[in-house]
Amino acid sequence: MTGIHRRALDTALPAVGRDVEAWCAKCGFALEHVIVAMVGQTVVQVRCRTCGGTHKYKSTREVAAAAAKAGRQPGAGEAKAPRAPAASKAAKVPQESAEVRAARALWQRKMATADRARATRYAASIQPMLGELVDHAAFGFGIVEQTMDGKAQFLFEQGYKVLITGR
Ligand SMILES: [Zn+2]
Repeated sequence: MTGIHRRALDTALPAVGRDVEAWCAKCGFALEHVIVAMVGQTVVQVRCRTCGGTHKYKSTREVAAAAAKAGRQPGAGEAKAPRAPAASKAAKVPQESAEVRAARALWQRKMATADRARATRYAASIQPMLGELVDHAAFGFGIVEQTMDGKAQFLFEQGYKVLITGR
């Protein structure tokens, strides 16, 4: 036997349960999503790994093209921080889970010794190392907790988030 045929393309095909880069209107970013529903070869519904929201699939290319047509940057100036308390509920202190509090405590401990001036600005193209400090436009400073294929898990002040990397 000479030549081994690696069916690399097969694994790249979208399928329910697989990851896909998609635009999340709620987060205001191109983020890692899980495919929830497909019609034939078309992805129709996805779930955001960052905010957990399920919505219609919108490719990042599609959104960028629409934004260019409208003459504005996608997400610029309209990025909503997830789980920000609504202005009307400002008087009420939002209940935080023990998980969120623990994540913040760990974040604060790690940030105490972090060199913020040397943080890498987050973009989907960065390839961060484990423990690297990243500066995200909406989430602030985050520390790389886990690196995976095409994504990484970051610890932000608001908790853990999986974001796209190396794209
Ligand atoms: Zn989202």
